[in-house]
This record gives sequence, C-alpha cells and structure tokens, in this order.
Amino acid sequence: MNVNAGKTRTGAPLDVEGLRRDFPILDQTIYDGKPLVYLDNAATSQKPKAVIEALTDYYTRYNANVHRALHYLGEQATARFEETRAKVAAFLNAPSERNIVFTRGTTESINLVAYAWGRANIENGDVILATGMEHHSNLVPWQILARAQGAELQLVPVLEDGTLDRDAFNSSLSPKVKLLAVTHMSNVLGTINPVKGLAAAAHEVGAKVLVDAAQSVPHMAVDVRDLDADFMAFSSHKMCGPTGAGVLYAKETLLESMDPFMGGGEMISRVNDDYSTWADLPYKFEAGTPNIADVIAFGVAVDYLSGIGMEAIHEYERDLTAYAVGRLEEVPGLRVFGHAPERGGAVSFEIEGLHPHDLSQYVDQQGVAIRAGHLCAQPLMRRLGVPAVSRASVYFYNTEREIDCLTDALRRACQFFGHG
Ligand SMILES: *Cc1c(COP(=O)(O)O)cnc(C)c1O
Repeated sequence: MNVNAGKTRTGAPLDVEGLRRDFPILDQTIYDGKPLVYLDNAATSQKPKAVIEALTDYYTRYNANVHRALHYLGEQATARFEETRAKVAAFLNAPSERNIVFTRGTTESINLVAYAWGRANIENGDVILATGMEHHSNLVPWQILARAQGAELQLVPVLEDGTLDRDAFNSSLSPKVKLLAVTHMSNVLGTINPVKGLAAAAHEVGAKVLVDAAQSVPHMAVDVRDLDADFMAFSSHKMCGPTGAGVLYAKETLLESMDPFMGGGEMISRVNDDYSTWADLPYKFEAGTPNIADVIAFGVAVDYLSGIGMEAIHEYERDLTAYAVGRLEEVPGLRVFGHAPERGGAVSFEIEGLHPHDLSQYVDQQGVAIRAGHLCAQPLMRRLGVPAVSRASVYFYNTEREIDCLTDALRRACQFFGHG
C-alpha cells in the first residue's frame, strides 16, 4: 500500500514528509537517541509552526482585550478573534457566525448545552438518549441533568464489531426522547457513527441532536447543515490548535431560545440594578474575557487544515489506519477492539496477559507514545470486558514507518514480559 495515497484538493498526493517539517516537536530523539513516534493524537494533536507563531505574534504585537477597547490594538485583536469565528463557520458550512460560540473545549460546550438548554427543556419523565461508546464528557453532564430533572438516561448498546445497535436505537425512539447525544467518531473504537441517519430518526420523534465531534472535525470534512445537527461540540487542541479553545455550534433558533450559561461582562446588552438584558448571538454565551490568543491561533489551525484539505486527510488516515490494524493484528496474542466498516484512526487493543500500563510504559522506552487506560469511557470498557485498553491514534503526519516502530516495540514488549 502507498503511504502517500491521500490526495490534496488539487489531486496531488499528500506530502507527509513536507507536512512533518511544519511540526518542530516531531523532529526529536528521546531516551538516548530513540526517534520520537507520537501516536496519541486522539488525546491531543501536535501544533504546526504557524499556530505556535500566531500565539507569540499576538502577545508580541497586538495583545489587547477584544470587543471593548476602542484603540488600535483592541481593534486588531477583535478583528483577528472574529476572523476565527468566520473561518470556523465556513469550515463547518454553518449558516452564519452567529451559530459559533467559543468555549474552552468540547467538555465546556456540552456542559453549556446541558445547563442552558437542558434545565429549561428536559422535564420529569423525559428520556435522554446517549450511546454505550460516549466519552465521559458526553455522558456525565447528561447524568447530572437527568438526576436534576427526574429524567431517564438511556444508552444505545454497542455491538461486537464496534458499531451501534441500530435496532435497539430504533426501538428506544419515542416522543419521550427529548435529546440524542451521540459521538460522531469514537475515541476508543474509531467507529464513525451514521450521525445523519440517527439525527433524522431522532428528529422524527421531536428530539434535538447533540453531536460530540471532538474526534471527527479534526479528521474529516464535517458539514453541520448536511448532518442537521442541532448542537455540535469540538476542541481546538485535537485539530492542530492550542488548548483552552473550542466550539459550540448550535442552530440559531435554539441559541435565541436559551438563557445564558454564565453571567458577567461581554454577554450583556444593558445591566440595570436588578436585571439585565442579553447581548446578541453569539456573545450572550461568551461571558468574560475569552482565550483571545488561543482562539486567534485556532483560526490559523483551521487555515492550515483547510490548506491540506479534509478529504485528503481523511483518505490518507483511512489507509494508514487499515495498515495499522493489519500490522497490529500480526502481533501474537494481540486483539484490536472494534472493526466498524467506517472508522477513523483511533485503534484500541490488548495483548493477552499484559497490562496496558506496562505495555505503554515499555513502548514509551522505545520512543513510541501511545495511550493506556479507560480512555474516559468506562461504560464502554465494561462492555468490552476489560478495565483498560492500549490505544494508538494517528494523524495526517504519521507514517507507515512509525506504525512499524510501534509493532516492533510491541513485539519486543511481548518478549520482555515473557510472551510469544
Ligand atoms: C477528547 C474528547 C472529548 C473531550 O474533549 P476536551 O477537549 O477534553 O473537552 C470529548 N469527546 C470525545 C469523543 C473526545 O475524544
């Protein structure tokens, strides 16, 4: 298989070696000369130089608060901050910038919906439908909401191949279901869920749909209008941007109908002594000084990804993931969790008799960074019948050679721990 199988927008192959040169962190050796192999991209991605430079550029040349300052620096900062909003709206094919609320990340975006929309719209006896493969960020807020409102949280089961049980989903649907909260791509199994179809079915019974897009927006073209998502949440730091910035996309009618999540500066229109009126969308939901530098640099990350092309990234990662699954399954005693036909580049696995923490520590000593643990998905771990898994997760800058480093390290681990 060709490592350069991904195509850019112009149809040329993805120049992975060239792209890697944009990421200074990748070019280093650790532990006495082992080349660093970073395969923990589902936890956070690395950042290209342009994004890192945008952060220092802001602090060096035009640091000022946004929206309020009527001076040169403030206008520069506000313009760049709002440019990111326009870029994100275009990136998602959102109708307008008014649909884009900046948050600290996926977790905060989901909590915003759970509090500001959930407390007003979920009542005693209602059903919130989530799935058995949700990240804790798309589960715990709904548990808190369900408990507070006397609602019931139901989870759509996960089948053996890592896909959702569509029959169980269909039979869970009823007019009692007020919200479907579903991950677009599983951070454990890699499964890409058929969100468009699930949303259409949920809408038929009158439910709203929240899509956790933390793993999809960084890796594939996502069109919010095509999916018909009511809410969508994702984080900058998994898509080449800084930590501390993220997005809540929501339909305008919903945002209009919702009360603010937090009160403070920036989000008001007029403040009387005993009550206030709210600022226009989306500022109603952005109380206080935002993460200005991070949001501006996030815009540079969006440009960077758009410049490569999301279709090209998705195609390249599909081939690289297939290669990774194939190579991993050659390791004696290794089992990959999840074989969904539509999948992204998070590959979880176990080696019989080896604890994931011992395994990841061993391969780390060989220079290879993978993740081990419950991956913020304890209900799914119970479904898989394991306390923890190991996970390798790729991005467009990873190569087949790096996958080979991982599988070699895993084989050595098996020998070291007395397997195979
Ligand atoms: C990482 C992740 C989250 C949480 O994102 P934060 O940036 O930590 O808020 C939620 N859902 C999925 C599927 C994730 O992978």
